Amino acid sequence: MIKHHPNAAILKDFVDGTLADSVSLIVSSHVELCEHCQQQVKQLTAEAANNAFDAEPVFSNEDLDSFSMDDMDFDFDFDAIEQITADASQSVEVIPEVQQVTVADTTFTIPRALNSVARKDWMNLGKISRARLDFADEAHHTSLLHIDKDGQVPCHTHKGFEITLLLEGSFEDEMGVYNKGDFIWLDGNHTHQPATKEGCVCLTVSSDALYFTKGVSQLFNPLGKYIY
Ligand SMILES: [Zn+2]
Repeated sequence: MIKHHPNAAILKDFVDGTLADSVSLIVSSHVELCEHCQQQVKQLTAEAANNAFDAEPVFSNEDLDSFSMDDMDFDFDFDAIEQITADASQSVEVIPEVQQVTVADTTFTIPRALNSVARKDWMNLGKISRARLDFADEAHHTSLLHIDKDGQVPCHTHKGFEITLLLEGSFEDEMGVYNKGDFIWLDGNHTHQPATKEGCVCLTVSSDALYFTKGVSQLFNPLGKYIY
């Protein structure tokens, strides 16, 4: 059961296409897993379409009355248009194939939104493995993160923000327990220490390095850049 979703403002920006590419990617990946947000997106899309058609017409009625095909200064290939339309009605929606990836002992399904995004090699550091996604969004880092059984990330906060989508397994922190599909948006107001008993795989989008806050883990600050 998914308990954590993008808020209404994020879903609206997602439908309007105003999110950064990497943020849009992780929202889209959540929506794939979440029937609740699929409904929200459907409704927001319908509203956006209605608003678009309610907008002031580009041409007035007088313009349209006086318009004739002779005014057009290019050749319209009606046959070609008919053919394209006919083809479109016969085409079947192409559903991208499901891709599965195994890291350590965990096999998980890649969200379809990520199918065409190249992944760099997995890098391992203790119980944490990270594969950065090769994604042209310079403001953010997008990665797949695997934490092995009984692993944890030292207590940290974020200079910017960190969005986590749980793709497999579960983890918990001071704020609760998270399961597959949960979408968690944290910023500098949050300090947490994620830990997993069964292991987990997350998709993460971060705008800056993690900042470790406590005792010995401050020594790990290079790790903050590694995970980011
Ligand atoms: Zn949702």
